[in-house]
Amino acid sequence: MEEYQKAYIQKMGSRIEALLAAGKGLEENFQESATSIRRLTHTLRGSGTTFGFNRITELAAATEDADDANLAQALNMLIDYLKELFEANRKDVERILVVDDSEEIRLMLGVILEKQGYSVTTAETAQEGISQLAEQEFDLMILDLVLPDIDGRNFLIKLREEHQTATLPVLVLSAKSSPQIKAECFALGADEYFEKPLDASLLTTRVAVTLQRSKTLEKQTRYDALTQLPNRAAFTESFESQSKLAVRGDSALCLGMIDIDHFKRVNDDHGHLVGDEALRYIGELVRDQLRKSDMVARWGGEEFVVLFPSTREDEGKQALVKALKYLNDNPLITQDNIMIPISFSGGVYEWKVDEDLNQALSQADAMLYQAKSSGRNCIMSSIDEAEVSPPKILIAEDDELTAEFILHRLKKDGFEMDHYDRGDAALEAARKQRYDLLIYDVKMPGMEGFELLQRTRSDSLNKSTPVIMLTSMGSEQDISRGLRLGANDYVLKPFSPMELMARIRRLLK
Ligand code: GH3
Ligand code: MG
Ligand code: MG
Repeated sequence: MEEYQKAYIQKMGSRIEALLAAGKGLEENFQESATSIRRLTHTLRGSGTTFGFNRITELAAATEDADDANLAQALNMLIDYLKELFEANRKDVERILVVDDSEEIRLMLGVILEKQGYSVTTAETAQEGISQLAEQEFDLMILDLVLPDIDGRNFLIKLREEHQTATLPVLVLSAKSSPQIKAECFALGADEYFEKPLDASLLTTRVAVTLQRSKTLEKQTRYDALTQLPNRAAFTESFESQSKLAVRGDSALCLGMIDIDHFKRVNDDHGHLVGDEALRYIGELVRDQLRKSDMVARWGGEEFVVLFPSTREDEGKQALVKALKYLNDNPLITQDNIMIPISFSGGVYEWKVDEDLNQALSQADAMLYQAKSSGRNCIMSSIDEAEVSPPKILIAEDDELTAEFILHRLKKDGFEMDHYDRGDAALEAARKQRYDLLIYDVKMPGMEGFELLQRTRSDSLNKSTPVIMLTSMGSEQDISRGLRLGANDYVLKPFSPMELMARIRRLLK
């Protein structure tokens, strides 16, 4: 079934309920109920075909057009069909707890609800109900107002105070038809109120509608509307339970943090709607590439977080590397058929017992920062951090003052440097090891800067390492010669530390 069809059927619960109520009303007030049935079936007649459910239109038409004698029968056929569709569209088996002291009611509810595909647990007293709630999770509770050990209203208050059951949908059963009690129950947190004697058909529909509504509500509070991924609140909750499980089972728990690279550009170049498309695309892709047991959530903006249960840091990293590789191979193709290559950077961190989520995430974030500063489109973990060494720069400069100045400035920024005051010695070094950047003076003893540059480019480990030439004021023709020989940039002496650093950073990117 298509998404829009599912949505149509999911909204059918309240219509079925309205049809059932109108059908019941036929006995007491025929004309009024018949009008309401014809009104309801008229809209169904129209919408059925629109959503691809011709049978709904057929049965609704038959009901709308039925004469008074055949109205009830036609209506029942329509309701039966709608209920069938509605029930079939409920995926998981929902668990219902029935708390009622009457054995007859427990048996009856058990039978009719199980027939609808629910799993039903019963309890005779509030005390028994509480122990059932402690044992397993329920999706809905049907609570009798009169119980042997406690007034149902007090039980309701207790449920709402407990964190675990604060949002559990509760349908209250009452033997008395009193508007006052009804109002009180709603005020105490009941989601539905139902009077005995029970109408089985109306009750099952009411149960289905209540479950549906609570699911929609849960979706709104726990999922991000744009990407449909769990949100921050849902992620935090999962972390709480997964970290407890990890301690109990003595297993590893890993956290990942992802941030889209240069996302601002995507928005700037293609507009916010495409930006949103990119967010959805990446969210879904990461979700698909990871295990079912891993949880991907949108943390905010263009940041996603991942919870990897029973996963060590290297395994978590591998998983994100795989997802990133997939993204590199499958760029976003927008609805307007524009291909946009996007990437993300990620940090992975293995949670340590006693750390709270904020502490662990800030570690993952620190790794993410490492990934961003090592050029983006990669994943970093603390294992890599030890391996990431600062960029190494070779400096060939014979002027003591200039060399001192550069060395001092670069050291402050955490770079590693080798310095030579002769060109030939610098070439020796460039042949032996790979550098991240080379800074060559032009005039030097042993070998001039241009020859050093040429030979570096032709036979050394640094054939493609960026080179900055230091050129003296007044010999500007050196600039073009250097660039022709393969230099990437030049700095005119005398230069400011700011200018030098800006050029170095640009080339290191
Ligand atoms: P970097 O690689 O360093 O992460 O660069 P960046 O451009 O991705 O990072 P920056 O934090 O500068 O920009 C993030 C951008 O993400 C800015 C903001 O407008 C955009 N953004 C955040 N949330 C949304 C959203 O829901 N939809 C869209 N379209 N854009 C969003
Ligand atoms: Mg950001
Ligand atoms: Mg970003």
